[in-house]
Amino acid sequence: MSLLHTATISVLVLATIIMTGSSIYLYATTQKQQTSLESLAREKTELTQDLASTTSQLATLRELASSTIHELSSRLSLTSDELAEIEDDLAREKDRNEDFEDQIKDLAGTVGVLDKLSKTDEELLQKYSKTYFLNENFRPLKLSQIDQDYVFAGKKDQYFHGDAIEHLTDLLDAAKRAGHDIKIISAFRSFEEQVELKGQFTQVYGTGANAFSADQGYSEHQLGTAVDIADSATAGTYTSFADTEAYAWLTENAYRYGFILSYPEGNQFYIFEPWHWRFVGRDLARDLHREGTSFYDLDQRELDEYLITIFD
Ligand SMILES: [Zn+2]
Repeated sequence: MSLLHTATISVLVLATIIMTGSSIYLYATTQKQQTSLESLAREKTELTQDLASTTSQLATLRELASSTIHELSSRLSLTSDELAEIEDDLAREKDRNEDFEDQIKDLAGTVGVLDKLSKTDEELLQKYSKTYFLNENFRPLKLSQIDQDYVFAGKKDQYFHGDAIEHLTDLLDAAKRAGHDIKIISAFRSFEEQVELKGQFTQVYGTGANAFSADQGYSEHQLGTAVDIADSATAGTYTSFADTEAYAWLTENAYRYGFILSYPEGNQFYIFEPWHWRFVGRDLARDLHREGTSFYDLDQRELDEYLITIFD
């Protein structure tokens, strides 16, 4: 065999070997790629299935959420309606309670006023001069003896209305502090005492006594809230009291303690009685003083309005 022949065979063998190796390699590579592709396809399928499943779950969840929200919101709106209704009920109940409370208060106030009025002599603010008659049996609900220190020396025991006596002693104490020595000559007088007194005056002064001494039943002294006052300078004489400083002080200050001059100068009932002071309560005395008017100039209806606070 020739060398060329041998070489040719060698080349052919080598070529065959190379081609076979390449084919094997190519086949292996293709196989490998094929396996990868299949794996990817499987993965894709799995993922697609997962996606479909997730999408379906999501849809279910969305549906669930939607129905839950719907239910909750409908429940909530029901609750809001119920709340509004309950609030309305409460407001109505509160109104009713307040109305009731007001009624109770009004009633209590009315009862209080009635109770207070029932314990107050309605005659205390009546006008008793010539036109108005005080029952002969009338006596104040309460009478208290005036401390002897406030009574003019030599006069008998004097009595004043028990609910107003503090106002009287306050007045007299204030006068004393202001330097005026004023004392009581006469305070409460019963119907009988007034009859007796009038008799005495009539004997002395004749019919002229009518001008300054009230007929029995018309006297403010029977109320227990009127006093005749004098100071030590005039020594108990009546008419000259108008010229004293004590009288001037009284005209400026007595109203603060609820006292007024019943018969000022120029009144149409009696002569001017500077000594005669009547307790009518601080409210009325203050208003009369402020308006410069006198007790007997007011309508009875106006006077009665002050009765409820007379002893305040
Ligand atoms: Zn008098």
